[in-house]
Amino acid sequence: MDNFHTVIIGAGPAGLQCAATLAAQGCKVIVLERQKVIGPKICAGGIPHHALHDLRLPAELIEKVFHTQHIYTPWQRAVLKEKEPVIATVDRKNLGQWMLQQAREKGAIVLNNAPVIKVDKANVYLKDRKIAYQYLVGADGSSSLVRRYLNIATTKQGAGINYQIPVKMANMEWHLNPRAFNSGYAWVFPHGQTTSVGIYAERRDVPPQQLFGRFCLWAKENKISLNDAKLGAALINFDYQGWNFGNTFLAGDAAGIASGFTGEGIYPAIVSGRTIAKSIITPGHDPRRLKRLIKKQQQHNRLQKFFTGNKVICQITLEMLVLAVRSGLIKFDLLEIY
Ligand SMILES: Cc1cc2nc3c(=O)[nH]c(=O)nc-3n(C[C@H](O)[C@H](O)[C@H](O)COP(=O)(O)OP(=O)(O)OC[C@H]3O[C@@H](n4cnc5c(N)ncnc54)[C@H](O)[C@@H]3O)c2cc1C
Repeated sequence: MDNFHTVIIGAGPAGLQCAATLAAQGCKVIVLERQKVIGPKICAGGIPHHALHDLRLPAELIEKVFHTQHIYTPWQRAVLKEKEPVIATVDRKNLGQWMLQQAREKGAIVLNNAPVIKVDKANVYLKDRKIAYQYLVGADGSSSLVRRYLNIATTKQGAGINYQIPVKMANMEWHLNPRAFNSGYAWVFPHGQTTSVGIYAERRDVPPQQLFGRFCLWAKENKISLNDAKLGAALINFDYQGWNFGNTFLAGDAAGIASGFTGEGIYPAIVSGRTIAKSIITPGHDPRRLKRLIKKQQQHNRLQKFFTGNKVICQITLEMLVLAVRSGLIKFDLLEIY
C-alpha cells in the first residue's frame, strides 16, 4: 500500500505551493489532481503587485502590470493613478505549469488525471488506488471533498463569469453598479494578447442566471463582443471557518479564504498553502501573514454584506466613496481592495 507523509488533494496554487514547501524540507509528498492539464482555471488572473515580490514569479509569467485603475459607477468615472504598480495579470495555465515545475523540482510527486473519490481518517481513495497519509491537505477548491469530509458547511459563495476575449485592451476597469450588480462588479482585465472580461457577485445576492443576463447587457452597453470567446463560470468560496483541523488542513478556496467582495483568491491560496506546510514542518509556527490576510478577508466580507443592503443607500455610499478617493480625501490603497 502507498504511504505518504502528506497527501494534498488539488493542484491549484494552494496545493502546489504547499507541496513545494513541504518537499523542499524533505517530506514525502503527493499531490492528486483530477484535471488532465494542471493550471487552467476560470479566472481573471489579477494578482496584487506586492504579491509578485513575495512569490518571486519570473517576469515572463507576468502578462501586464497596472499603475492605474479605471473605476466606473453610474454617476462617475475615476482614474486612480499610483506611483507604484497596483495589480498585474497572469495566465492561469502558465502560472500553474510554473508552480508544478517548482514543486516537482523540490521532489513532490504530482499526479494529474487523479480524481479523489473518498477520504477517511487514514486514507485517500482514487478509483483503483488507496493512499495512506500522516497529514491530509484539502486544496481542492470551492466544492472541496475534504471540507465535506470535515463536515464544514459552505453557505457564503461568490459566482464568477469570465470570457477571455481575443482582443487587446489597454485599461484595467472595474464597473460598480449596486442597482444592476448588487454587491458585485464587472471587470476588464487586459492580458498580453487577450482580455478577461467578467462579472462577480455573491451567489445568493444575484442568482447565476440573473448575473449572466446582467453581464450580457453590460457587455452590449460597453460594446464588448463575446462572440469569439467561450463562457466560463465558477464558484468562489469565502465562508472561512478555520484551516487547521488536527492532521487535516484546508487551503485556499477549500478553506474559504478568498475575498467575498472582490473574489480575489490566488494570493491567499498560495499564502495558506505555504502556511500549512510550515505548520506541518514546525508545529507552533506563527501563521502571521495568513492571519493578516484572513483579517482583511473578514473586512471585505463585511463590505460585501453592507452592499447587499438598501440599493439607494448603497448607491449613495459608493458614489461618496469613489468621490472621496478621486479627490484624494481617501487614499486608494487605504481601502485595501487588492
Ligand atoms: C470568474 C473568476 C475570476 C477570478 N478572478 C480572480 C482574480 O482575478 N484574481 C484572484 O486572485 N482570484 C480570482 N479568482 C479566484 C481564484 O481563481 C481562486 O481563489 C483560486 O484559484 C484558489 O486557488 P485554490 O488552489 O484554492 O483552488 P483551485 O485553483 O480551484 O484549485 C483546486 C484544484 O483542486 C482540484 N480538485 C478538486 N476536487 C478534486 C478531487 N476530488 N480530486 C482531485 N483534484 C480535485 C481542481 O481540479 C483544481 O485544480 C477568480 C475566480 C473566478 C471563478
